[in-house]
Formats: sequence, structure tokens, C-alpha cells
Amino acid sequence: MTSRRSMLKLLAATSLLPACAESDPGSGGSAGMGGMGTAGGAGAAGGAGMSGAGGAASTAPDKLIFLGTQGGPRFNTMRGETAAVMIIGDVPYMIDCGYGAFRGLLAASIDPLKVSQVFLTHLHTDHVGDVAALLGLQWTQGRKDPVTVYGPYGTDALVTGAIAFNAADTRIRVADEGRTVMPGDIFKGVVSEATATPTKVYEDANITVTCCENTHYNDTVKAAIPDRSLAYRIDSKARSIVFTGDTTYTENIVQLAQGADILVCECMDVVATRASFDAQVAMGAYGDNPEGVWNHIVGAHTPCADMGKMATAANVKKLVAYHLVPGALNGGEPDQSYIDQIKTTFAGEIVIAADQMVL
Ligand SMILES: [Zn+2]
Ligand SMILES: [Zn+2]
Repeated sequence: MTSRRSMLKLLAATSLLPACAESDPGSGGSAGMGGMGTAGGAGAAGGAGMSGAGGAASTAPDKLIFLGTQGGPRFNTMRGETAAVMIIGDVPYMIDCGYGAFRGLLAASIDPLKVSQVFLTHLHTDHVGDVAALLGLQWTQGRKDPVTVYGPYGTDALVTGAIAFNAADTRIRVADEGRTVMPGDIFKGVVSEATATPTKVYEDANITVTCCENTHYNDTVKAAIPDRSLAYRIDSKARSIVFTGDTTYTENIVQLAQGADILVCECMDVVATRASFDAQVAMGAYGDNPEGVWNHIVGAHTPCADMGKMATAANVKKLVAYHLVPGALNGGEPDQSYIDQIKTTFAGEIVIAADQMVL
């Protein structure tokens, strides 16, 4: 990608140019990982002129764009932390907003100002790290319309905290620039109940969103804290897409995802992850309790074979692996390594997501 093209996309994304100033379907590798996906038909994110959320339904084809595909919280420059955006009826809907999501929006030529709905699977930082950045940018750029962040227990406090994080910036700009809209006037967090069976949490002219509780937190953890973790199903007129969030195999998701066109599932290669983990410990990571962290990793995530089992039981057409662990860590894991393990339990189409991949 040329520097001129980068500048055009940045200008478009920050509303200094129309959002559709450049639509370049050939620039998919611009975020660094576009070339590593294996999906037939997967393309690159292109710009889109988008209306506000909840507007009249559009006939534009749905897009699912991966902004970050690394399982976190350990980060790298090859894959961003977990985030995706669905463009439906020209409206962007975000699913998770981990570190790098904001940059991912810009790389996909999506104007962050146009994001009105964010759905968080859970509140680990690798899924929410850019929420304060997103809301802060929206406010400084003068957004006046509401933005709602949906998620599990604590999401309302997270949005309040993001506003507090940006409080100095707000105070300065109110005094210095005479700003009149307050962040608390437009930003809101809504807590969705974590239920075993699918529960509707959002609906507009474009989509219906249902969620269920997944099994990222075991019963011991859940007994100690009120936090919960969610999976989402988004049904548009064209297709249905399910995001597992971070989880282990669960019948809740099998039910939520039943017959879906696409199941976007977190994916862990356990052997490669242990090698990556040991390398990180050798470099000083997790010094307070390395085996406690390892127990979380293997006890709270989905090995390749289990994601295939879940997809088979849910009878989905296409299985997409994201939140990849080890992903790009420890030198990177070849896509084929995941695919070889997944296909032992799933006979349908398998896609290994990459940042900026479009489905
Ligand atoms: Zn995660
Ligand atoms: Zn997590």
C-alpha cells in the first residue's frame, strides 16, 4: 500500500474526505496479515459510505470484516487483538473492540464516527482495549448521536470508566473549545443477561442480535465474581453469523448457532500454544503465577478439534477460526496446522481469519 493511499484512507476515515473517497478492493494485505487467510472468496476491506445505525435498510451486500484475529492479551504487530465489524445495510456493527480495533477500522476505510453499536463478548482487555479510544475519538470529532455498547455484566461500568478515562480531555476541550455535547449524553453501556438459551438483545431494520452465555469462565470463577461471557448470533436478511467469543465447547453455542451460515469460533492449537507460552515465560512473562495462567489458557478456550465438533453439532455451513492462539506469536502458526486439526471433526468449509479479511 502506498503512503498516498494510506493518507487518503486516513483522511476519509477521519471525515476530512468523503468515506468513499477511495475504494480499493485490492489492498487487502495492508494491515499486514491479509495474505495469510485461506478462504475462497475472502477479500479485502474496502471503503463504504455508511449511514447512521438504524437507518433504512440497504440492498448493499453484507460484509464481515476482521479487524483483529490474535488471541490475547499478548499482542504483536501481525495480528490485532480481537475485533470484527459487520457492514449490513451500509451500517457498521462492531463485535468486540480489542487493542488495535481502532486502527483496523481505519485500515478498512470505515469511519469510526459511524459506529453506533458495539457488542462485547466479555470484558477481558484483549476484547475491549480500544473502547475508550473509539468513544474518545467519536466525541472529539463532534459526534452528537447516541452510541450503545452492549455486553455482559460490567459493560455499563466499562463505558462509564471509558468516559472517566477521557475526562481530562473532555474538561480541557469544553473549556478551550466550548464543546457542548458531553460524553455521558451520548455514550451508554447496556448489560445483557447471560442465559443458557438464546435471548434477543438488539433489533433494527438490518439485524437481529441474540446472545447466550458461553463457558469462558468455569463454575468456580463464576461463583467468585458476577462477570459472565457471551456468544452472539447476528441475523440479517442475507445470512446468519455467530461469534462464539472466548469459550470452551458448550451446548449453549450449539443451540445458538444451529444452522447458521457462518460460525466464527475462537481457535487454539494446544501444543503450539504451550511452546509459545514456555517461550514467553522464559522471557519473563506471567512471573506471578505461570501455571495459573496456563490452567486458564487450556481450561477456558477451544482447541481446534473442539471447534470442529461444535460446528458439526450446530450444522453450520462455514467455520471461521479467529482469536487464534498462538496466532502470530512465537514466530507464527501456519494456517494449515489449524486446518489439519479442525477437519478431523468438521467436514464443511474452514477459513482461518486474517486481519482485514472480508467475508
Ligand atoms: Zn480473548
Ligand atoms: Zn477472554
